[in-house]
Amino acid sequence: MESTRYLIVGGGMTGDAAVKGIRERDQDGSIVLVGAEPHPPYARPPLTKGLWAGKDEAKIWRGTEDAGAALRLGRRIVSLDLDRHVATDDRGDEYGWEKLLLATGGRPRTIPGTEGVVYFRTLDDYRAIRARMRDGASAVVIGGGFIGSELAASLATNGCRVTMVFPERGIASRVLPAELSAYVTDEYRRRGVEVLTEETVAAAGANWVTTGSGRTIEADTIVAGLGLEPETDLATAVGLEVDNGIVVDELGRTAGHDDVFAAGDVASFPVAALGRRFRVEHEDHAKSHGRAVGANMAGANVPYLHLPFFYSDMFDLGYEAVGEVDSRFETVESWEEPNRKGIVAYVDESRRPRGFLYWNVWDHVDLGRELISAGAPIQEAALV
Ligand SMILES: Cc1cc2nc3c(=O)[nH]c(=O)nc-3n(C[C@H](O)[C@H](O)[C@H](O)COP(=O)(O)OP(=O)(O)OC[C@H]3O[C@@H](n4cnc5c(N)ncnc54)[C@H](O)[C@@H]3O)c2cc1C
Repeated sequence: MESTRYLIVGGGMTGDAAVKGIRERDQDGSIVLVGAEPHPPYARPPLTKGLWAGKDEAKIWRGTEDAGAALRLGRRIVSLDLDRHVATDDRGDEYGWEKLLLATGGRPRTIPGTEGVVYFRTLDDYRAIRARMRDGASAVVIGGGFIGSELAASLATNGCRVTMVFPERGIASRVLPAELSAYVTDEYRRRGVEVLTEETVAAAGANWVTTGSGRTIEADTIVAGLGLEPETDLATAVGLEVDNGIVVDELGRTAGHDDVFAAGDVASFPVAALGRRFRVEHEDHAKSHGRAVGANMAGANVPYLHLPFFYSDMFDLGYEAVGEVDSRFETVESWEEPNRKGIVAYVDESRRPRGFLYWNVWDHVDLGRELISAGAPIQEAALV
Protein backbone atom coordinates (compact mmCIF):
# COMPACT_ATOMS: atom_id res chain seq x y z
CA MET A 1 0.00 0.00 0.00
CA GLU A 2 1.22 3.49 -0.93
CA SER A 3 0.96 5.94 1.96
CA THR A 4 0.82 9.70 1.62
CA ARG A 5 0.13 12.70 3.82
CA TYR A 6 -2.34 14.18 1.32
CA LEU A 7 -4.48 12.14 -1.08
CA ILE A 8 -6.36 14.00 -3.81
CA VAL A 9 -9.09 12.11 -5.64
CA GLY A 10 -9.69 13.75 -9.03
CA GLY A 11 -7.25 15.16 -11.56
CA GLY A 12 -9.14 18.26 -12.73
CA MET A 13 -8.44 21.96 -12.21
CA THR A 14 -9.50 21.73 -8.56
CA GLY A 15 -7.15 18.83 -7.81
CA ASP A 16 -4.32 20.78 -9.42
CA ALA A 17 -5.13 23.95 -7.46
CA ALA A 18 -5.26 21.96 -4.22
CA VAL A 19 -1.73 20.68 -4.81
CA LYS A 20 -0.56 24.28 -5.14
CA GLY A 21 -2.52 25.34 -2.06
CA ILE A 22 -0.97 22.54 0.01
CA ARG A 23 2.51 23.52 -1.19
CA GLU A 24 1.99 27.12 -0.01
CA ARG A 25 1.82 25.77 3.56
CA ASP A 26 3.70 22.48 3.47
CA GLN A 27 6.74 22.14 1.23
CA ASP A 28 7.58 18.57 2.17
CA GLY A 29 4.43 16.57 2.90
CA SER A 30 3.85 13.87 0.29
CA ILE A 31 0.94 14.43 -2.10
CA VAL A 32 -0.60 11.74 -4.31
CA LEU A 33 -3.23 12.71 -6.89
CA VAL A 34 -5.33 9.91 -8.41
CA GLY A 35 -7.13 10.85 -11.64
CA ALA A 36 -9.46 8.77 -13.78
CA GLU A 37 -8.49 10.49 -17.03
CA PRO A 38 -5.24 9.36 -18.67
CA HIS A 39 -3.95 12.97 -18.75
CA PRO A 40 -2.44 15.15 -16.03
CA PRO A 41 -4.64 18.10 -14.96
CA TYR A 42 -5.36 20.58 -17.75
CA ALA A 43 -7.46 23.71 -18.26
CA ARG A 44 -10.92 22.84 -19.56
CA PRO A 45 -12.16 26.23 -20.89
CA PRO A 46 -9.88 26.13 -23.98
CA LEU A 47 -11.64 22.93 -25.12
CA THR A 48 -14.62 24.99 -26.32
CA LYS A 49 -12.76 28.25 -27.03
CA GLY A 50 -9.01 28.78 -27.45
CA LEU A 51 -8.10 25.44 -29.00
CA TRP A 52 -10.56 26.18 -31.83
CA ALA A 53 -8.99 29.61 -32.33
CA GLY A 54 -5.42 28.43 -32.77
CA LYS A 55 -4.27 28.13 -29.14
CA ASP A 56 -1.50 25.55 -28.77
CA GLU A 57 -2.69 22.36 -27.03
CA ALA A 58 0.63 22.23 -25.16
CA LYS A 59 -0.48 25.37 -23.24
CA ILE A 60 -3.38 23.71 -21.43
CA TRP A 61 -1.33 21.66 -18.92
CA ARG A 62 -1.38 22.91 -15.33
CA GLY A 63 2.10 21.68 -14.29
CA THR A 64 0.77 19.70 -11.33
CA GLU A 65 3.69 17.30 -11.13
CA ASP A 66 6.21 20.16 -11.10
CA ALA A 67 4.29 21.60 -8.15
CA GLY A 68 5.21 18.51 -6.17
CA ALA A 69 2.51 15.84 -6.52
CA ALA A 70 2.91 12.22 -7.57
CA LEU A 71 0.28 11.50 -10.25
CA ARG A 72 -1.51 8.18 -10.55
CA LEU A 73 -3.46 8.56 -13.79
CA GLY A 74 -5.98 6.41 -15.61
CA ARG A 75 -7.15 5.13 -12.23
CA ARG A 76 -10.47 5.66 -10.51
CA ILE A 77 -10.89 5.48 -6.74
CA VAL A 78 -13.77 3.06 -6.20
CA SER A 79 -14.01 2.85 -2.43
CA LEU A 80 -13.05 4.71 0.72
CA ASP A 81 -12.54 3.53 4.28
CA LEU A 82 -12.66 6.66 6.43
CA ASP A 83 -11.81 4.82 9.67
CA ARG A 84 -8.71 3.07 8.29
CA HIS A 85 -7.80 6.11 6.13
CA VAL A 86 -7.52 3.95 3.02
CA ALA A 87 -8.75 4.47 -0.56
CA THR A 88 -8.81 1.73 -3.19
CA ASP A 89 -8.61 2.20 -6.94
CA ASP A 90 -10.12 0.21 -9.80
CA ARG A 91 -6.97 -1.91 -10.12
CA GLY A 92 -7.19 -2.92 -6.48
CA ASP A 93 -4.26 -0.72 -5.37
CA GLU A 94 -4.64 0.94 -1.98
CA TYR A 95 -3.59 4.40 -0.80
CA GLY A 96 -3.19 5.29 2.86
CA TRP A 97 -3.72 8.98 3.68
CA GLU A 98 -3.69 11.47 6.55
CA LYS A 99 -5.83 14.10 4.76
CA LEU A 100 -8.21 13.33 1.91
CA LEU A 101 -9.64 15.70 -0.73
CA LEU A 102 -12.56 14.74 -2.95
CA ALA A 103 -12.18 16.82 -6.12
CA THR A 104 -14.20 14.51 -8.32
CA GLY A 105 -16.08 17.22 -10.26
CA GLY A 106 -19.01 15.95 -12.27
CA ARG A 107 -20.06 13.70 -15.10
CA PRO A 108 -22.01 15.00 -18.09
CA ARG A 109 -25.78 14.62 -18.10
CA THR A 110 -26.85 12.25 -20.87
CA ILE A 111 -29.99 11.46 -22.82
CA PRO A 112 -30.99 7.86 -22.07
CA GLY A 113 -30.76 5.43 -24.97
CA THR A 114 -28.40 7.49 -27.12
CA GLU A 115 -25.37 5.67 -28.58
CA GLY A 116 -22.36 7.42 -30.11
CA VAL A 117 -23.23 10.96 -28.97
CA VAL A 118 -20.20 12.83 -27.59
CA TYR A 119 -21.16 14.26 -24.19
CA PHE A 120 -18.52 16.94 -24.25
CA ARG A 121 -16.29 17.48 -21.21
CA THR A 122 -12.75 16.18 -21.64
CA LEU A 123 -9.63 16.63 -23.74
CA ASP A 124 -10.35 13.27 -25.37
CA ASP A 125 -13.83 14.53 -26.34
CA TYR A 126 -12.21 17.61 -27.90
CA ARG A 127 -9.70 15.51 -29.83
CA ALA A 128 -12.46 13.18 -31.07
CA ILE A 129 -14.55 16.08 -32.39
CA ARG A 130 -11.54 17.92 -33.81
CA ALA A 131 -10.49 14.85 -35.80
CA ARG A 132 -13.88 14.77 -37.55
CA MET A 133 -14.37 18.50 -38.06
CA ARG A 134 -12.77 19.43 -41.34
CA ASP A 135 -14.04 22.49 -43.27
CA GLY A 136 -17.60 21.91 -44.44
CA ALA A 137 -18.31 19.05 -42.02
CA SER A 138 -21.65 19.07 -40.24
CA ALA A 139 -22.48 18.90 -36.55
CA VAL A 140 -25.57 18.84 -34.40
CA VAL A 141 -24.98 20.47 -31.02
CA ILE A 142 -27.52 19.46 -28.38
CA GLY A 143 -27.84 22.05 -25.61
CA GLY A 144 -27.89 25.84 -25.58
CA GLY A 145 -26.05 26.50 -22.32
CA PHE A 146 -22.35 27.27 -21.80
CA ILE A 147 -20.80 24.24 -23.49
CA GLY A 148 -23.31 24.00 -26.35
CA SER A 149 -23.23 27.70 -27.23
CA GLU A 150 -19.44 28.02 -27.09
CA LEU A 151 -18.85 24.84 -29.06
CA ALA A 152 -21.42 25.77 -31.72
CA ALA A 153 -19.74 29.16 -32.20
CA SER A 154 -16.27 27.59 -32.39
CA LEU A 155 -17.36 24.93 -34.88
CA ALA A 156 -19.13 27.50 -37.07
CA THR A 157 -16.07 29.76 -36.97
CA ASN A 158 -14.05 26.77 -38.21
CA GLY A 159 -16.25 26.38 -41.28
CA CYS A 160 -18.60 23.66 -40.01
CA ARG A 161 -22.34 23.55 -40.71
CA VAL A 162 -23.92 23.60 -37.26
CA THR A 163 -27.45 22.90 -36.06
CA MET A 164 -28.27 23.57 -32.40
CA VAL A 165 -31.19 21.87 -30.65
CA PHE A 166 -32.40 22.77 -27.15
CA PRO A 167 -35.68 23.13 -25.27
CA GLU A 168 -35.29 26.71 -24.03
CA ARG A 169 -36.50 29.82 -25.88
CA GLY A 170 -33.02 31.15 -26.59
CA ILE A 171 -29.29 30.63 -26.18
CA ALA A 172 -28.03 30.81 -22.58
CA SER A 173 -31.55 31.72 -21.49
CA ARG A 174 -31.05 30.48 -17.93
CA VAL A 175 -28.41 33.17 -17.48
CA LEU A 176 -29.22 36.00 -19.88
CA PRO A 177 -32.29 38.23 -19.65
CA ALA A 178 -34.87 37.24 -22.29
CA GLU A 179 -34.17 40.12 -24.68
CA LEU A 180 -30.43 39.56 -24.60
CA SER A 181 -30.84 35.82 -25.09
CA ALA A 182 -33.07 36.51 -28.13
CA TYR A 183 -30.44 38.88 -29.53
CA VAL A 184 -27.69 36.28 -29.11
CA THR A 185 -29.85 33.62 -30.74
CA ASP A 186 -30.45 35.91 -33.74
CA GLU A 187 -26.73 36.60 -33.89
CA TYR A 188 -26.02 32.84 -34.17
CA ARG A 189 -28.56 32.57 -36.99
CA ARG A 190 -27.03 35.56 -38.76
CA ARG A 191 -23.71 33.72 -38.69
CA GLY A 192 -25.21 30.66 -40.34
CA VAL A 193 -25.98 28.43 -37.34
CA GLU A 194 -29.37 26.76 -37.56
CA VAL A 195 -30.89 27.18 -34.09
CA LEU A 196 -33.86 24.98 -33.19
CA THR A 197 -35.28 26.49 -30.00
CA GLU A 198 -38.06 24.97 -27.86
CA GLU A 199 -37.15 21.65 -29.41
CA THR A 200 -36.25 18.40 -27.66
CA VAL A 201 -34.26 15.35 -28.73
CA ALA A 202 -36.33 12.19 -28.91
CA ALA A 203 -33.50 9.90 -30.00
CA ALA A 204 -29.94 10.22 -31.29
CA GLY A 205 -27.01 8.16 -32.57
CA ALA A 206 -23.46 8.84 -33.73
CA ASN A 207 -24.63 10.57 -36.94
CA TRP A 208 -28.29 11.47 -36.47
CA VAL A 209 -30.78 13.17 -34.20
CA THR A 210 -34.56 12.85 -34.23
CA THR A 211 -36.24 15.82 -32.60
CA GLY A 212 -39.33 15.73 -30.44
CA SER A 213 -41.34 17.25 -33.28
CA GLY A 214 -40.28 14.38 -35.56
CA ARG A 215 -37.53 15.86 -37.74
CA THR A 216 -34.42 13.71 -38.35
CA ILE A 217 -31.12 15.54 -38.90
CA GLU A 218 -28.02 13.71 -40.12
CA ALA A 219 -24.54 15.07 -39.38
CA ASP A 220 -20.89 14.02 -39.21
CA THR A 221 -20.89 14.56 -35.45
CA ILE A 222 -23.49 14.72 -32.72
CA VAL A 223 -22.20 16.47 -29.63
CA ALA A 224 -24.05 17.41 -26.46
CA GLY A 225 -23.53 19.80 -23.57
CA LEU A 226 -26.34 19.29 -21.08
CA GLY A 227 -24.71 20.27 -17.80
CA LEU A 228 -23.37 17.88 -15.25
CA GLU A 229 -24.21 15.69 -12.30
CA PRO A 230 -21.84 16.11 -9.36
CA GLU A 231 -19.70 12.97 -8.94
CA THR A 232 -20.78 12.21 -5.36
CA ASP A 233 -20.97 8.39 -5.38
CA LEU A 234 -17.85 7.89 -3.25
CA ALA A 235 -19.08 10.39 -0.66
CA THR A 236 -22.57 8.89 -0.54
CA ALA A 237 -21.17 5.36 -0.13
CA VAL A 238 -19.37 6.34 3.09
CA GLY A 239 -22.24 8.39 4.50
CA LEU A 240 -20.87 11.90 3.94
CA GLU A 241 -23.60 14.52 3.68
CA VAL A 242 -24.59 15.10 0.06
CA ASP A 243 -27.16 17.69 -1.01
CA ASN A 244 -26.62 18.79 -4.62
CA GLY A 245 -22.91 18.17 -4.03
CA ILE A 246 -20.75 17.15 -1.09
CA VAL A 247 -21.64 19.47 1.78
CA VAL A 248 -18.59 21.29 3.21
CA ASP A 249 -18.03 24.12 5.67
CA GLU A 250 -16.18 27.38 4.95
CA LEU A 251 -12.83 25.56 5.36
CA GLY A 252 -13.83 22.86 2.86
CA ARG A 253 -14.28 20.15 5.53
CA THR A 254 -17.03 17.57 5.38
CA ALA A 255 -19.26 17.35 8.46
CA GLY A 256 -17.91 15.10 11.19
CA HIS A 257 -14.56 14.48 9.48
CA ASP A 258 -11.79 17.05 10.07
CA ASP A 259 -9.50 15.11 7.72
CA VAL A 260 -11.88 14.73 4.74
CA PHE A 261 -12.36 17.71 2.43
CA ALA A 262 -14.17 18.42 -0.85
CA ALA A 263 -13.74 21.28 -3.32
CA GLY A 264 -14.58 22.58 -6.79
CA ASP A 265 -17.50 21.50 -8.98
CA VAL A 266 -18.46 18.66 -6.60
CA ALA A 267 -18.72 20.74 -3.41
CA SER A 268 -21.71 22.56 -1.92
CA PHE A 269 -20.20 25.41 0.09
CA PRO A 270 -21.61 28.32 2.14
CA VAL A 271 -21.52 31.81 0.56
CA ALA A 272 -21.84 34.37 3.34
CA ALA A 273 -22.36 37.31 0.95
CA LEU A 274 -25.50 35.67 -0.50
CA GLY A 275 -26.67 33.89 2.64
CA ARG A 276 -26.97 30.41 1.22
CA ARG A 277 -25.08 27.39 -0.14
CA PHE A 278 -23.87 27.14 -3.71
CA ARG A 279 -22.33 24.55 -5.95
CA VAL A 280 -20.39 26.36 -8.66
CA GLU A 281 -19.22 24.83 -11.95
CA HIS A 282 -16.70 27.45 -13.06
CA GLU A 283 -12.99 27.86 -13.53
CA ASP A 284 -12.37 30.69 -11.05
CA HIS A 285 -14.07 28.68 -8.32
CA ALA A 286 -12.19 25.47 -9.21
CA LYS A 287 -8.91 27.35 -8.91
CA SER A 288 -9.66 29.46 -5.86
CA HIS A 289 -11.64 26.90 -3.85
CA GLY A 290 -9.13 24.18 -4.71
CA ARG A 291 -6.26 26.38 -3.60
CA ALA A 292 -7.98 27.56 -0.40
CA VAL A 293 -9.09 24.07 0.64
CA GLY A 294 -5.65 22.64 -0.19
CA ALA A 295 -4.08 25.25 2.09
CA ASN A 296 -6.62 24.38 4.80
CA MET A 297 -5.71 20.68 4.51
CA ALA A 298 -2.18 21.82 5.36
CA GLY A 299 -3.42 23.81 8.37
CA ALA A 300 -4.05 27.33 7.03
CA ASN A 301 -7.46 27.50 8.72
CA VAL A 302 -8.66 30.34 6.46
CA PRO A 303 -12.39 30.46 5.56
CA TYR A 304 -13.23 30.59 1.86
CA LEU A 305 -15.06 33.90 1.41
CA HIS A 306 -14.33 34.41 -2.29
CA LEU A 307 -17.35 35.09 -4.52
CA PRO A 308 -16.33 33.36 -7.75
CA PHE A 309 -16.80 34.90 -11.18
CA PHE A 310 -17.29 33.17 -14.51
CA TYR A 311 -17.02 34.10 -18.16
CA SER A 312 -18.00 32.91 -21.60
CA ASP A 313 -17.23 33.76 -25.22
CA MET A 314 -19.62 33.30 -28.16
CA PHE A 315 -18.34 34.62 -31.50
CA ASP A 316 -17.36 38.23 -30.74
CA LEU A 317 -19.69 38.44 -27.72
CA GLY A 318 -18.20 37.84 -24.33
CA TYR A 319 -18.89 38.51 -20.70
CA GLU A 320 -17.79 38.17 -17.11
CA ALA A 321 -20.33 37.55 -14.38
CA VAL A 322 -20.36 37.24 -10.61
CA GLY A 323 -22.86 36.10 -8.01
CA GLU A 324 -26.31 34.70 -8.71
CA VAL A 325 -26.72 35.34 -12.42
CA ASP A 326 -30.10 33.76 -12.99
CA SER A 327 -32.61 35.05 -15.53
CA ARG A 328 -35.50 34.37 -13.11
CA PHE A 329 -34.46 37.47 -11.13
CA GLU A 330 -35.63 40.98 -11.99
CA THR A 331 -32.87 43.02 -13.61
CA VAL A 332 -31.59 46.60 -13.52
CA GLU A 333 -29.73 47.30 -16.76
CA SER A 334 -27.42 49.96 -18.12
CA TRP A 335 -26.47 49.74 -21.82
CA GLU A 336 -23.82 51.78 -23.59
CA GLU A 337 -24.87 50.02 -26.82
CA PRO A 338 -28.02 47.87 -26.60
CA ASN A 339 -27.20 44.13 -26.43
CA ARG A 340 -23.55 44.82 -27.40
CA LYS A 341 -22.03 46.52 -24.36
CA GLY A 342 -23.60 46.97 -20.98
CA ILE A 343 -24.13 45.91 -17.38
CA VAL A 344 -27.01 43.89 -15.93
CA ALA A 345 -27.70 43.65 -12.21
CA TYR A 346 -29.89 40.72 -11.07
CA VAL A 347 -31.86 41.99 -8.07
CA ASP A 348 -34.14 40.60 -5.39
CA GLU A 349 -37.58 41.96 -4.49
CA SER A 350 -35.91 44.82 -2.55
CA ARG A 351 -33.68 45.65 -5.53
CA ARG A 352 -30.60 44.38 -3.71
CA PRO A 353 -28.10 42.93 -6.17
CA ARG A 354 -27.61 39.15 -6.20
CA GLY A 355 -25.41 39.03 -9.29
CA PHE A 356 -23.92 41.06 -12.13
CA LEU A 357 -23.41 40.40 -15.82
CA TYR A 358 -20.73 42.48 -17.52
CA TRP A 359 -21.48 42.15 -21.22
CA ASN A 360 -18.41 43.07 -23.26
CA VAL A 361 -17.42 45.15 -20.23
CA TRP A 362 -14.24 44.11 -18.46
CA ASP A 363 -12.55 44.51 -15.05
CA HIS A 364 -15.76 45.29 -13.12
CA VAL A 365 -16.07 42.01 -11.23
CA ASP A 366 -14.57 43.37 -7.99
CA LEU A 367 -17.03 46.26 -8.01
CA GLY A 368 -19.85 43.73 -8.44
CA ARG A 369 -18.57 41.74 -5.47
CA GLU A 370 -18.55 44.90 -3.34
CA LEU A 371 -22.11 45.83 -4.32
CA ILE A 372 -23.39 42.30 -3.61
CA SER A 373 -21.67 42.25 -0.21
CA ALA A 374 -22.93 45.75 0.66
CA GLY A 375 -26.48 44.50 0.01
CA ALA A 376 -27.95 47.97 -0.62
CA PRO A 377 -30.76 48.52 -3.17
CA ILE A 378 -29.32 49.45 -6.54
CA GLN A 379 -30.20 52.04 -9.18
CA GLU A 380 -29.18 52.05 -12.83
CA ALA A 381 -26.79 54.99 -12.27
CA ALA A 382 -24.78 52.96 -9.74
CA LEU A 383 -23.85 50.35 -12.30
CA VAL A 384 -21.19 52.21 -14.27
C1 LIG B 1 -15.50 22.26 -22.08
C2 LIG B 1 -15.58 23.13 -20.86
C3 LIG B 1 -15.46 24.51 -20.98
C4 LIG B 1 -15.53 25.32 -19.86
N1 LIG B 1 -15.44 26.68 -20.01
C5 LIG B 1 -15.53 27.47 -18.92
C6 LIG B 1 -15.46 28.89 -19.05
O1 LIG B 1 -15.37 29.43 -20.14
N2 LIG B 1 -15.52 29.64 -17.92
C7 LIG B 1 -15.64 29.09 -16.69
O2 LIG B 1 -15.68 29.82 -15.70
N3 LIG B 1 -15.71 27.74 -16.53
C8 LIG B 1 -15.66 26.92 -17.61
N4 LIG B 1 -15.76 25.56 -17.47
C9 LIG B 1 -15.93 25.00 -16.13
C10 LIG B 1 -14.62 24.69 -15.44
O3 LIG B 1 -13.67 24.23 -16.34
C11 LIG B 1 -14.90 23.68 -14.32
O4 LIG B 1 -15.68 24.33 -13.35
C12 LIG B 1 -13.66 23.11 -13.68
O5 LIG B 1 -12.80 22.55 -14.63
C13 LIG B 1 -14.05 22.05 -12.64
O6 LIG B 1 -12.93 21.44 -12.13
P1 LIG B 1 -13.03 20.22 -11.09
O7 LIG B 1 -11.61 19.74 -10.95
O8 LIG B 1 -13.77 20.63 -9.88
O9 LIG B 1 -13.93 19.10 -11.79
P2 LIG B 1 -13.69 18.24 -13.11
O10 LIG B 1 -13.19 19.12 -14.19
O11 LIG B 1 -14.94 17.48 -13.36
O12 LIG B 1 -12.53 17.23 -12.72
C14 LIG B 1 -12.72 16.13 -11.90
C15 LIG B 1 -11.77 15.05 -12.32
O13 LIG B 1 -11.86 14.00 -11.39
C16 LIG B 1 -11.88 12.75 -12.08
N5 LIG B 1 -12.58 11.78 -11.20
C17 LIG B 1 -13.89 11.75 -10.90
N6 LIG B 1 -14.15 10.73 -10.04
C18 LIG B 1 -12.95 10.12 -9.81
C19 LIG B 1 -12.55 9.01 -9.02
N7 LIG B 1 -13.44 8.31 -8.28
N8 LIG B 1 -11.25 8.66 -9.01
C20 LIG B 1 -10.35 9.36 -9.74
N9 LIG B 1 -10.67 10.43 -10.51
C21 LIG B 1 -11.95 10.80 -10.54
C22 LIG B 1 -12.62 13.06 -13.36
O14 LIG B 1 -12.31 12.11 -14.35
C23 LIG B 1 -12.08 14.45 -13.69
O15 LIG B 1 -10.90 14.37 -14.45
C24 LIG B 1 -15.71 24.74 -18.59
C25 LIG B 1 -15.84 23.35 -18.46
C26 LIG B 1 -15.78 22.55 -19.59
C27 LIG B 1 -15.97 21.06 -19.46
